[in-house]
Amino acid sequence: MKFHSTRGGVSGVSFKEMLLSGYASDGGMYLPETIPTVSKATLCSWAGLPYDELAFKIASYFIEEVDIPATDLQAIFKRAFSTFSEREVVPVARLQNGLVIMELFHGRSLAFKDLSMSCIGNFYNYFLGEGKRHMTLIVCTSGDTGSSAIEAVRGFDKVDVVVMLPRGRCTKIQELMMTTVQDSNVHVYRMDGSSDDIDVVTRDMFSDPSFVKEHNLASASSLNFTRVLIQMVHIFYTYLQLCPAADGEVEMVLPTGGAGNVTAGMIAREMGLPVRFVCAVNDNNVLSRMMDDGQCDLGDIHVTLAPAMDIQFAYNLERIWYLCSGGDSALIKKVMEDVDKGSVNIPSNVLNKMKSAIKVYTVCGDKEIRDTIKRCWEENKYHICPHTAVGVAYYYKHRKDINGPCAVLATASPLKFPEAITASEVPAPTSERMRELLIAPTRYTDLEKDENWTAIVRAKVEAISKQKALLQRSS
Ligand SMILES: *Cc1c(COP(=O)(O)O)cnc(C)c1O
Repeated sequence: MKFHSTRGGVSGVSFKEMLLSGYASDGGMYLPETIPTVSKATLCSWAGLPYDELAFKIASYFIEEVDIPATDLQAIFKRAFSTFSEREVVPVARLQNGLVIMELFHGRSLAFKDLSMSCIGNFYNYFLGEGKRHMTLIVCTSGDTGSSAIEAVRGFDKVDVVVMLPRGRCTKIQELMMTTVQDSNVHVYRMDGSSDDIDVVTRDMFSDPSFVKEHNLASASSLNFTRVLIQMVHIFYTYLQLCPAADGEVEMVLPTGGAGNVTAGMIAREMGLPVRFVCAVNDNNVLSRMMDDGQCDLGDIHVTLAPAMDIQFAYNLERIWYLCSGGDSALIKKVMEDVDKGSVNIPSNVLNKMKSAIKVYTVCGDKEIRDTIKRCWEENKYHICPHTAVGVAYYYKHRKDINGPCAVLATASPLKFPEAITASEVPAPTSERMRELLIAPTRYTDLEKDENWTAIVRAKVEAISKQKALLQRSS
């Protein structure tokens, strides 16, 4: 299987090349050139498979023997998912009033992003294994992506990771999960600014192709299609948990930010999986406004109790629009020009296709998040994180109208968000690891407002490459 760009300018790209890059060179996003279909009989035969074997079955449609031999691919998934604390990888919680929660957060950084990042770390290692190549992963994070990327590659000698986080804007535990890591290939900057301010540094670096090439820079956000690809596994897994005979439609509620999950879901749907989606969003509701009539202006970012979803524009929408337009790359190019100017403008045929698969639910501010955390605790003595609460809020409000099986995908562990849980008048959960974090030694660099962040981070990347070159010469 080869990959091509949503904007039509790049095609025939191998899995490896796609994995090791970010945006396509025409500015578009990678997708597979064709979407394979899965028959109902095949689907049924997958029910009951362990998570890593299901991952292998699905990934094999996109990653062929010529990319990675089957036995190697199986070993990669086995190793990646063995870092999860639960044997079944994604346990299912069945709660009062028919609420079903898929616990996607049992990886090392306690967020669903570990499901794909742990595989990506292993893919990097696999491809860098033979040669003397080294790469540097650049991560701008509002909380979860940073620690997930760190956990995926810490201790590797072929990969360094540079993480930039907005100081004081992640939760305390999220920040400590990044700043207490002692491995020498992990470099953490706490910047005095917002995620948007930090994004400027990433964009500066990635818009310099010779710098990107010289230092083998890669991005770990879900603009990388490999992340979306691996996230399809938990969509299929959830379906088969709720509907093992593959004889009905399942509704999945996705707490949504960058829309990586729902993109994975839309591809699974194209492959023939009978699913529909509810994108649950917070006050950053571009998606909801756009779904009304295909138009909206991009506003300012609102700070909410669910920070991983405080995203102004869900960049994966470009992929969803492409899929829903039947692959009209000329249209996508035009639509994205509007987005760059600050407004969204979607033709009605694309919008109608989206609406047939996706509903959007906007939570009523932080209050509804708190009320939902509280109700879920009171009914079940079960903690949910504020992102998961945005999804559960939809379920509580609409459960009587839902036909057929429905599951809410829990995107992070409540252990990472004690502040939001306490604010909901619920006793906060804790664990041994959380208590140790609070007293662990830290290792990071602070960058102040008046410093030249881009220059400092570029110099760091250069220093890393130089040191790696010296090490290789001496070995
Ligand atoms: C990243 C993240 C999301 C948003 O996921 P998308 O796939 O980008 O929409 C939601 N919740 C949590 C906890 C996250 O870390």
